[in-house]
Amino acid sequence: MQNKEIDFEPNESCALAMEAQDSLKHFRDKFHIPKQASGEDVLYFTGNSLGLQPRTTREYIEQELDDWKNLGVEGHFHAENPWMPYHEFLTEKMANVVGAKPLETVVMNSLTVNLHLLMVSFYRPNGKRNKIVIEKNAFPSDQYAVASQIAFHSKISNSKFQIPDSKENRLIELAPRDGETILRIEDIEKVIEENGDEIALVLLGGVNYYTGQAFDMKRITGIGHKAGAVVGFDLAHAAGNLELHLHDWNVDFAAWCSYKYLNSGPGGIAGVFVHERHADAFELPRFAGWWGHDKETRFLMDDKFIPMRGAEGWQLSNPPIFQLAALRASLDIFEEAGMKNLREKSVKLTNYLEFLLNEIHDERIGIITPRDSKDRGCQLSIRVKNSDKTLFKAISEQGVIADWREPDVIRVAPVPLYNSFSDVWKFAEILKDCLAVK
Ligand SMILES: *Cc1c(COP(=O)(O)O)cnc(C)c1O
Repeated sequence: MQNKEIDFEPNESCALAMEAQDSLKHFRDKFHIPKQASGEDVLYFTGNSLGLQPRTTREYIEQELDDWKNLGVEGHFHAENPWMPYHEFLTEKMANVVGAKPLETVVMNSLTVNLHLLMVSFYRPNGKRNKIVIEKNAFPSDQYAVASQIAFHSKISNSKFQIPDSKENRLIELAPRDGETILRIEDIEKVIEENGDEIALVLLGGVNYYTGQAFDMKRITGIGHKAGAVVGFDLAHAAGNLELHLHDWNVDFAAWCSYKYLNSGPGGIAGVFVHERHADAFELPRFAGWWGHDKETRFLMDDKFIPMRGAEGWQLSNPPIFQLAALRASLDIFEEAGMKNLREKSVKLTNYLEFLLNEIHDERIGIITPRDSKDRGCQLSIRVKNSDKTLFKAISEQGVIADWREPDVIRVAPVPLYNSFSDVWKFAEILKDCLAVK
């Protein structure tokens, strides 16, 4: 039976009708949904901060605990899922989530660590071409990482994480126009073109954590390359949220964490992408460790480092198996659901949320996230007039888990794997009621 598109209506029966048509709705049952004191499920909208726990995660980790208990060191080769190649079991699944080839992907470390390791190789200031382009409002960790890399390369004291004077200022920050909150692609293009021969690296987020703006990564990569720069992305808020095609977009490198949309648990192990064309770029400087060494000869313990081809050559240490097991549980769910299907539901779910927010018609709230679904992921950032946090407190008391970002934003991220159209409906009702009381 062909499902007819249901027109959005601001009523519960519309939400329920869309839910009935949702071919992914059973995926919610694969997750533990936290409960309110009343025993009801909370309305969880913070999968952009920490994804929920898949019901299978415990089993995946327990398998490794059992194998360690029963086999000790032999688990490296004889565990049900041998630890020696364990990270390889995740490679293809992770590659599929970000539109990469397996050779281009590896799971390792955590996000900021990986940004540094990749900048060691891909931020190569050379004479006048020494600048990095970032968003002015990038996530602070990215700003610290970039500023400290610049300082590392430029004999500037690293202690203040400030670049002291304009001659030495190697940071180009992209800012929205006055009175605007999101970046325009034509402004990004202009800045990159105007500074073209001075830019060594363009490093942007795929989706801005604050505004929820998604960037046209394909186009930005093209613009950066035309200027002669290397282009990398921080996909913390994009991986598992948008459909990505890192290989086809020709992105040089990318890094992302897995505890947000990828549900690997707090501090989970992160992902890395290095484009195939750099797979054999052994001339690039890199910080090396034994896990990046050619695996055929790794255990000969030779003192000469021979990096593996592709992203795996950036590994340093043997990876944390429990973390890999947790991420694997979630990636198996992604494989089953398919990123394309998830994104399709996500667009509908977030559009419905936007529709209901507009229906509230209250000037005390506004949406700062771009209105076109191609320019955003699942998150909507709601700006609250006069930075009034009482509204956030009031919805929290009604069982909503969203997050407040200073100075005045409530971020709400309906996640297609475990959020439903009724969640969105209930949220909008609560918000409306709380606004009515005030
Ligand atoms: C969540 C997030 C981080 C967090 O970095 P960790 O190294 O995982 O602690 C960094 N950058 C961005 C853009 C993020 O959204």
